[in-house]
Amino acid sequence: TSFGFKEVNEEEKSQLVGNVFTKVASNYDIMNDLMSGGLHRLWKDRLVSKLTPFPGMKHLDVAGGTGDVAFRILETINSGRAMDDTLEDNLQEETQIYVCDINPNMLNVGKKRAQERGLGNLGSLVWVEGDAEKLTFNDDSMDGYTIAFGIRNVTHIEKVLAEAYRVLKRGGRFLCLELSHVDTPIFKQLYDYYSFSVIPVVGELVAGDRDSYQYLVESVRRFPRQEVFASMIADAGFQQVEYENLVGGVVAIHSGLKI
Ligand code: SAM
Repeated sequence: TSFGFKEVNEEEKSQLVGNVFTKVASNYDIMNDLMSGGLHRLWKDRLVSKLTPFPGMKHLDVAGGTGDVAFRILETINSGRAMDDTLEDNLQEETQIYVCDINPNMLNVGKKRAQERGLGNLGSLVWVEGDAEKLTFNDDSMDGYTIAFGIRNVTHIEKVLAEAYRVLKRGGRFLCLELSHVDTPIFKQLYDYYSFSVIPVVGELVAGDRDSYQYLVESVRRFPRQEVFASMIADAGFQQVEYENLVGGVVAIHSGLKI
């Protein structure tokens, strides 16, 4: 390609993705803040506000990494809690947020963070090592499904979507936050410069791994455009599929309903 990246096969792809997350698990949060200028926090807030979490819900956050999305969901549920309401309390205890990730290092960092935040002993967070393409959860078992910055790196997007559809209950919502495509000409040039020139250098300096970050940037370019991804979600069976661009398409939140 014009940027000089080599094509990678599927095996190389999983390996590269595995490497980058193993290497950066411990300074993963710092990298996120650095690369997005802290914006990823607002994007995740937006994702969770679209979910409208409720006490007693069973939710699955796939590619959940260090727990960022799961903590927000749980904190949203807890903050709406009426202290003297026993019905709410009972429901509260039933809340289950499953964090599924293929990389145990990321999950371990997440578990530690849950303890630090006082969320570790509630029993509401369940950490599961697993593959988004082949989930171990039952059919029709989840009220909600989120995947943040995860679907871009999988080998078969269709399998991930089919699995999301399978595990959701009817009425359950699928929400996906992902880096996407910028259209505005000047902004696009700036953004390309930032992605292809700045990110790999930051990756090298902070994580000591230029190649993996270069690969991740390339993977954003290859990821289907907003409309195409939306039609893939619809093809998986979801209804009312829509998306919202944030920062001109730097990221997009796609959503769909299993009816
Ligand atoms: N959702 C978190 C966030 O937004 O901060 C983590 C995003 S991180 C960029 C991507 C995560 O996807 C990594 O933790 C990686 O281990 C995980 N991952 C990659 N391929 C996966 C797969 N096939 N199934 C489940 N998780 C996967």
